[in-house]
Amino acid sequence: MRANQLYAPTLRESPAEAELISHKLMFRAGFIRKAAGGIYSYLPLGWRTMKKIMQIIREEMDAKGGQEIMMPITQPAELWKESGRWAVYGDEMMRLKDRHGREFALGPTHEEMITTLIRDEVRSYKQLPLMLYQIQNKYRDEIRPRFGLMRSREFVMKDLYSFDRDVEGMNISYQKMYDAYSKIFERCGLKFRAVEADNGAIGGGHSHEFTVLAPNGESSIAYCENCNFAASDEKAELKIIQAAPEELKPLEKVKTPACHTIELVKNFLNVPIEKTIKAVAFMDDQERLILAFVRGDHEVNEIKVINSVENANHLYMAGDKLIENAGTVAGFMSPIGISNAIIVVDQSVMMMSNAVAGANEIDAHFINVTPKRDFDAEKIIISDIRMVQEGDPCPHCGAKLKMTRGIEVGQVFTLGKKYSEALNAKFLDEDGTNKYFEMGCYGIGVGRTMAAAIEQNNDADGIIWNRAIAPFEVVIVPVNAKDDKQLAFAEEIYNELQKSGVDVLLDDRKERAGVKFKDCDLIGYPLRVTISPKTLDSGNVEVKVRRSGEFFNFDRENCVKNILELLETL
Ligand code: ATP
Ligand code: MG
Repeated sequence: MRANQLYAPTLRESPAEAELISHKLMFRAGFIRKAAGGIYSYLPLGWRTMKKIMQIIREEMDAKGGQEIMMPITQPAELWKESGRWAVYGDEMMRLKDRHGREFALGPTHEEMITTLIRDEVRSYKQLPLMLYQIQNKYRDEIRPRFGLMRSREFVMKDLYSFDRDVEGMNISYQKMYDAYSKIFERCGLKFRAVEADNGAIGGGHSHEFTVLAPNGESSIAYCENCNFAASDEKAELKIIQAAPEELKPLEKVKTPACHTIELVKNFLNVPIEKTIKAVAFMDDQERLILAFVRGDHEVNEIKVINSVENANHLYMAGDKLIENAGTVAGFMSPIGISNAIIVVDQSVMMMSNAVAGANEIDAHFINVTPKRDFDAEKIIISDIRMVQEGDPCPHCGAKLKMTRGIEVGQVFTLGKKYSEALNAKFLDEDGTNKYFEMGCYGIGVGRTMAAAIEQNNDADGIIWNRAIAPFEVVIVPVNAKDDKQLAFAEEIYNELQKSGVDVLLDDRKERAGVKFKDCDLIGYPLRVTISPKTLDSGNVEVKVRRSGEFFNFDRENCVKNILELLETL
């Protein structure tokens, strides 16, 4: 490809709204342009990298027996009503009507579509296991689209679905995908971790998120340096924190004027924060009041709360009316003497004694609360509902956990029979009985992977591509393209590299050398081959490695061979 024919508009400025370096650089380097919030066009350079990532994904999916298909983006509402998700998916689903008033969704994911696709045709165990995938646009009306391709509303996703006879088969498919994902992100040159994750709205069994480590990532992960444990902060299981035994004192109500936060009450009563019990009031999608209680120095994990309350799907902050109806008041809540609410208490709260908790009336708290004695065990749910924190004990080995941030680029789930049962998808097994498929689903965000790669690989001058996903592997720059000699020399090398299978760009633009060099650094081609009067004189070419900034001089005769060798090391 010649730069003269390439549409690659580079810019000096980035959009005001761009917070992340990947967003800024993708915009400045001419990779993407915005059409609306969270909706983007990919320009030639951006699309080249996207296609390279997709190719890597395809190769690894195919290597594990995946078969590529293409399903519709426009999905009839009936499918989602049948599975029960039309009502629970919420505002994130983009919905539309056709001219007859029939309802559709723009696919945020395809479990319903694929399960109904195969249910009447895959009838025998002999057709299993089956792994089908597609790479296609997905639609999610994210509440806060941001960070460019990282959290957009229309984005390219690879989604594979596995169908197996039994749980054992499903777990084998899961492992295959887990291995394929590891390979994909390794081939893309990313530093990542596979972390134990929550299944979220998809439901089902176990799950891992593939998280690219980056300080600006939206995901927070807990990991253990002593053993292999790593989990998203939403998922990380926590052990009960035991408390030292104390002599129990009688429950007592005290005045705490205007002490409606933990900070205020702890200072007013002069107690350590670990001796306080904090309440958070939620309303769920069925408008039930859910009161969650954790130790004052801990934070509530909403996902864990959802998972511990039957039929809760979404949580919202509860309004004062709902709280009042339960006979309590915001800022002074405790489970003591409350009705009309679902009460969820963190397991570590149950270990506390002589603690401070609200008295369910304005300006009053209980002191000497001992949950085991004072909470009505029949009326409460006791569960692990808190967020992990740096220094918490590892659930596997007990060592102190560390926290780091990252970007979730892919996730694998076992679904079990969740969708096959809901959508009545069965096959005839060898023993003559009809069984529901054991399923799994596996997604990778292609645009988010591209953005994550930039987050991890950039410097003050621009992007630094790993060779495997660079829009071009090599750029050849005759410093003065008006000079026929330089251009002729550059063309020779260009042709030879192309013949050797290198993805190469010839920067034949009649721009100043400085402009071209700046663009090369901004776009981030792994190798730059420079032809100048000096190199012409000496019969050499100068090669610059983008990542290390190293320069090499290769003589004309061996330069293609040397460039190929150098590429191998990148
Ligand atoms: P998140 O928690 O970040 O919202 P998710 O867990 O809902 O993502 P999945 O359903 O697991 O996403 O989708 C599979 C992959 O699709 C994700 O790992 C991510 O790479 C990508 N993805 C999901 N949502 C978006 C989005 N809004 N923009 C870009 N990529 C996305
Ligand atoms: Mg996910």
